[in-house]
Amino acid sequence: MDEPKPSVVVVGGGFAGVGCAKELAKRGIAVTLLDRNNYHQFQPLLYQVATAELAMTDIARPLRGIFKSEPTVRVHRAEVTDVDPASRTVTTADGQTFTGDYLVLAAGSQPNFFRTPGASDHALPLYTLEHAIALRRRLVELVEEVDADPSRIDQGALNFVIVGAGPTGVETAGALADAVKQVIPRSFRDLDINRARIYLIDHGPVVLAAFSDRAHSYTADKLEHNGVHLLLKTGVKEVTPAKVILSDGNEILTRLVVWAGGIQAPELAAKLGMEQGRGGRVATLPDLTVDGFPRVYVIGDMANTPDHDGTALPQLGSVALQAGRWTAMNILADIDGTERKPFHYKDKGIMAMIGDGAAVAEMGPHHHELHGHMAFAAWLGVHAWLMSGVHQRVDAFLSWGWDFIGSARSSSLLDDPERARIDWGDESGDAER
Ligand SMILES: Cc1cc2nc3c(=O)[nH]c(=O)nc-3n(C[C@H](O)[C@H](O)[C@H](O)COP(=O)(O)OP(=O)(O)OC[C@H]3O[C@@H](n4cnc5c(N)ncnc54)[C@H](O)[C@@H]3O)c2cc1C
Repeated sequence: MDEPKPSVVVVGGGFAGVGCAKELAKRGIAVTLLDRNNYHQFQPLLYQVATAELAMTDIARPLRGIFKSEPTVRVHRAEVTDVDPASRTVTTADGQTFTGDYLVLAAGSQPNFFRTPGASDHALPLYTLEHAIALRRRLVELVEEVDADPSRIDQGALNFVIVGAGPTGVETAGALADAVKQVIPRSFRDLDINRARIYLIDHGPVVLAAFSDRAHSYTADKLEHNGVHLLLKTGVKEVTPAKVILSDGNEILTRLVVWAGGIQAPELAAKLGMEQGRGGRVATLPDLTVDGFPRVYVIGDMANTPDHDGTALPQLGSVALQAGRWTAMNILADIDGTERKPFHYKDKGIMAMIGDGAAVAEMGPHHHELHGHMAFAAWLGVHAWLMSGVHQRVDAFLSWGWDFIGSARSSSLLDDPERARIDWGDESGDAER
């Protein structure tokens, strides 16, 4: 008789968790997938939802729908609150426990407000679908408010502040600039949109610090051309409900502050009792397990995984998806009695959209640099690959990309809440589209 196959508990249905569970399912391994949400969210497109260019249903998919053809994968919606690496057991908020022969922790990250007074209360982060919807709602509310009473502009109702000039901040600023120039005026014809101001703030001297010098100046020029005010070498001292107070003492009246200032590991990371690196990420060995617990894997944004040269791999969807698949390969290697392999990341490059059809991309291991429409095409290709790894359906994304490059985007989404409606009650199949 065959040996019973080992079971695997996976925490987190993001790129890493889904990537791992899908590979294991192909070999009929029993997987329990736990996530606080019953859907997977495609984070790289959150700001398109926030600025009403895409509907929620375009970037989220029920986890049970993703695994509907894989009978060995069980999805549970649950908040994991504790973890015991020795017994490979996790405990959920409602007191249930789940134990696996293997445990895979892939719980992502959370926003880091760096203890900036008022930021967690009054700034909107952009890390989850709920965040994107909250941001979109605030944007629509403010535009409606000004449309009804233009004097609100003097109180900063059309001043939009983005904190952090990394890819998320730059992409959000670019998308807001597009919304201000191209989407809002089509729906709100009497509104004096020329008085809208978008500020992108960073304490560093450049935008997109991880990119090349040429990309810094290209991106800064494009953003400024699109009407984004760059406030570099400037910190944020405090966020209040009505303004942002800057490190140089200046203040910006505003009712919409987007926090793209940084991320940190989730609380669960500390529960492991392991060494934590930058941003609280859990240090892993090259095979993606943690020291002393060869059947406990930590992957994706939550992990501090060394690249071949010893530097930590970046927090990217492509790293998370590949690490998820690699983890499954190593678990299957144990089952087959072969050797595990150290994780080897195939560098897909780094890229960011700047708005108005422009993008920067540094492709492949040698970071070959592309700007403009070529970079946008590369961005579209890599993200279609990423999306197909978890969602399978990339049609809405590609059609958005096509419209975007042709400047033919929809003008009706901002005041069309029905399009954003989704019924998460149907957990058995695809979301309503
Ligand atoms: C706005 C934005 C834009 C981005 N753009 C890009 C891009 O263009 N290209 C790119 O490659 N990367 C991009 N990234 C980064 C990329 O999205 C992340 O690196 C990737 O999502 C990490 O995958 P993960 O599986 O580790 O975590 P996640 O995708 O964050 O998944 C973690 C999952 O764990 C669940 N979870 C967390 N804690 C618990 C708990 N206690 N109990 C139960 N469930 C829990 C969450 O609900 C979530 O589903 C972007 C990120 C953001 C925020």
